Amino acid sequence: MLSAAVRNVLQTHPCGLTFDIDGTLSPIAPSPEAARLFPGVAGLLERLRPYARVAVITGRAVVSAAALVGVDGITYIGNHGLEWAEGLPEHHPIQLLPAAEAYRLSAQRLLTLAEQHLARSSPCVQIEHKSIGGTIHYRRCPDPVQSRQEILELLREPAQQAGLQLSEGKMAVELRVPGLNKGQALQRFIEQHRLRGVLFAGDDTTDLDGVETLLSLRQEGICPAAVTIAVRHPDTPSRLLERADLIVEGVAGMASLLEEMVLFLEQETGTSSPGWQEKRA
Ligand SMILES: [Mg+2]
Repeated sequence: MLSAAVRNVLQTHPCGLTFDIDGTLSPIAPSPEAARLFPGVAGLLERLRPYARVAVITGRAVVSAAALVGVDGITYIGNHGLEWAEGLPEHHPIQLLPAAEAYRLSAQRLLTLAEQHLARSSPCVQIEHKSIGGTIHYRRCPDPVQSRQEILELLREPAQQAGLQLSEGKMAVELRVPGLNKGQALQRFIEQHRLRGVLFAGDDTTDLDGVETLLSLRQEGICPAAVTIAVRHPDTPSRLLERADLIVEGVAGMASLLEEMVLFLEQETGTSSPGWQEKRA
């Protein structure tokens, strides 16, 4: 049964439905490229698209996010809000926030330093380069606690000197442009489309910025119908579970919620799959 808060968002116009990807729409995988969307999720996103502005907001680069999600006509907000595309990158250019350009070279220098140093001492780490900045994954390391410490010790000081931000996700250290986060990205998306109803779902520390921003915008009356969702896994941060309005159990729980939302919208408007495309055309 769809909660009143979610129904309220879906009945508000214009409405935005925004999701983290890894751990929210796709089960956590041993490496970023091994991740796959939960079965049925791509089809559900496509069926949501006629009714709402749909966006994925992720730490992944847009190219990587689009390769995983593969749905055109939704907004891809990558690298914590640094990269934007209004659909799959083969049809829509990826735009970078201009202010981030100043960090490109120093971020590259630090990732090269990490590559050179960690290739010898921790070959289990995987370095993911993004347009600006990147992520160092240590999920595959035999001693993740030690690998994490080694990565942080190596990069903490040079990152500080370069004015770059080190942040942590699940089994990963991220080298990021300062001041950009999922909260700011979500706010920009809401402002761009003058959204009055918004749902945001995530499962990790970086999603807390999205949750807090949306709660503030609701309180200020800028986005009066807003609902925040935490996806619960054994390692979902307790703060996220406390702050979110609703909790769903794992990616399977998120997929069930998506399906309920689709069915609700299709019933409300008298459209239903598979005929909805013809009826709306
Ligand atoms: Mg996640």
